[in-house]
Amino acid sequence: MKLLCLSPSLPHIKPELLAEIAQALHADGSRLLILAQPPAQHAQVFSYGLQPRSAMPIEKNLLWQDLFHHQTTTTASQPLAGVYPIDRIWEHPILAPLSIAFATAGIQSLLILPLRHNQQCIGCLTLFRSSASIPWTDQELELARSLAIDMHLAVMQQQVEQMCRDRAYYDILTGLPHRLLLDRWLSLSLAKMPTEGKILAVIFINLDRFKNINDSLGHKFGDRLLQLIAARLKQVVDDTAILGRWSGDEFVLLIPELSHITTVQAVADRVLNCFDLPFVFEQSFQILTTNSLYIKVRMGIAIATGSDCDSELLIQQADIALDRSKNHGKNNYEIYAPITTHPPTDRLRLEHILDRAIVDGQLFLHYQPQIDIQTGAIIGIEALLRCQDNHAKTINPADFIPIAEESGSIIQIGEWVIRTACQQSQLWQEMGLGNFPVAVNLSVKQLQDRNLIDIISEILAETRVSPATLEVEITESIAIKDLDQTIAILESLREIGVKISLDDFGTGYSSLAALKYLPLDRLKIDRSFIRELKINTVDASIVNTIINLGHELNLNVVAEGVETIEQFELLRSINCDAVQGFFFSRPVTAPDLETMIATGSYWHQNLAHPHNLLSH
Ligand code: C2E
Ligand code: MG
Ligand code: MG
Repeated sequence: MKLLCLSPSLPHIKPELLAEIAQALHADGSRLLILAQPPAQHAQVFSYGLQPRSAMPIEKNLLWQDLFHHQTTTTASQPLAGVYPIDRIWEHPILAPLSIAFATAGIQSLLILPLRHNQQCIGCLTLFRSSASIPWTDQELELARSLAIDMHLAVMQQQVEQMCRDRAYYDILTGLPHRLLLDRWLSLSLAKMPTEGKILAVIFINLDRFKNINDSLGHKFGDRLLQLIAARLKQVVDDTAILGRWSGDEFVLLIPELSHITTVQAVADRVLNCFDLPFVFEQSFQILTTNSLYIKVRMGIAIATGSDCDSELLIQQADIALDRSKNHGKNNYEIYAPITTHPPTDRLRLEHILDRAIVDGQLFLHYQPQIDIQTGAIIGIEALLRCQDNHAKTINPADFIPIAEESGSIIQIGEWVIRTACQQSQLWQEMGLGNFPVAVNLSVKQLQDRNLIDIISEILAETRVSPATLEVEITESIAIKDLDQTIAILESLREIGVKISLDDFGTGYSSLAALKYLPLDRLKIDRSFIRELKINTVDASIVNTIINLGHELNLNVVAEGVETIEQFELLRSINCDAVQGFFFSRPVTAPDLETMIATGSYWHQNLAHPHNLLSH
């Protein structure tokens, strides 16, 4: 019985609907509460027939509140999911505050139907009976459940339609729906999803370096760019998809009712392709030498396969996927896969592994050389952490370091990294391989740990490594978190003679002025700038500027992620000091690195003829 799904405009027929529902369920009265939602600031109540004589809405009672917030209650039994019958209401202490209200109206039993989907409750339908002699039958409860589902959908549909009509839910700049409306739309689409056969996709589209554009070319220019992007995105999506602006430089696409994941990939490809052409600006915006600009995007995709998916979780997954897409470079997308994002159980398992990793010997280091761009000599070696799970599968630092940071185990793990790297460096020296500075990465938690300086001093003393052989790498975003504190710590490190590198430079939004105050020895240009490095590109001029800036500040400049001969040669032509990347060597185990060095440091010999390196 689908009483409500067909209802085109709920408000007008609510009283009739409530009457129909009451009659179908042999109740003497019914009542619909719609909780306050963004479109309507107040809760709304509609009623039919017999009602409790209470000045306060009955839904303020703890019993209803429990149902709204926790889904379960100890008072009401739940013979069917989402249906709560209560016979002989006077026997339930939680209803005592309402006993007079019910008694004076002659109400003896209730049937409560929260209108909810997953975690989100939008209201409640309550039915009243004056006679408790007949309990609610199974058939009635089954019917009540399907009515509640229909009612829930109808109310949501109505709210979304209302929001769609209201301009307040659209972004003024682009004319696209914004977050609040998208969120409701997503919840509605999920609730309407058939249990099998269809999927729904949420695609987050993030603009690359939009903040830089905004900062350097001005907000007016940035605003116009967003409008041009919105217009172009509109052209690539069809009517079934909903395009919106999620936040500053983030657009979102919701695609309901898809049959297969390949369709999602096809949409993602269409979105990527539409950024192949530059965005052309009107004459009045001609700030650059040209009036057009290329923009790159990254996308994070989450897929719901059944209506039991939660909108909040889905958004979270798309966000995680977006974050992960950074590892693939620009103009790329990542589809959320549970295995890569540690759902709670995986996460706990990983936390457990990390807690015991040192004792269980599941941590090890890989080493990647940094090469002097002119001489080919190794000027340093970066130690990169690896962790093995219980099945000897290697987990990437990007996946486990955030978890170790949250759980706090990063402090011990970080100490283990510094100690192991120093021991290794000492061993290499004893083996006569050379005295290479070894660089370790520091996490934000380590930098905030007031024992850091003592720990490092102890390790240096214990391993007999000279302080200048140890280098610490901190990322730009970590460094600026608490600039004063960072400066103080880095200065203490400097006092003991340890070298300091600023990692992933160019990815954070730190002001260049901050660079002036940090005591640094080296700047590492993030690999995202190197990835598409070609002569006469924007990236080439950015890299050139970073190198010049670094040199002006007396810093040694290293380019990360050098993979090709073209990148290498271009970096050499613009006076970069050193390079690190797969072109020379992937991060390898200590024995593999020793073999490479012992067998004649091929990068050294081949540097004069870098083309030879390609055969390796
Ligand atoms: P990072 O410090 O920027 O390290 C460089 C990353 O770039 C490494 O990834 C390395 O494998 C990768 N890489 C090097 N050359 C190339 C190349 O030519 N092409 C490409 N595509 N990639 C290249 P990895 O080992 O996965 O580490 C990722 C990040 O995890 C590191 O970035 C660092 O921030 C963090 N990390 C690694 N070890 C530690 C550690 O011991 N402690 C802390 N706190 N963080 C660590
Ligand atoms: Mg690093
Ligand atoms: Mg880096």
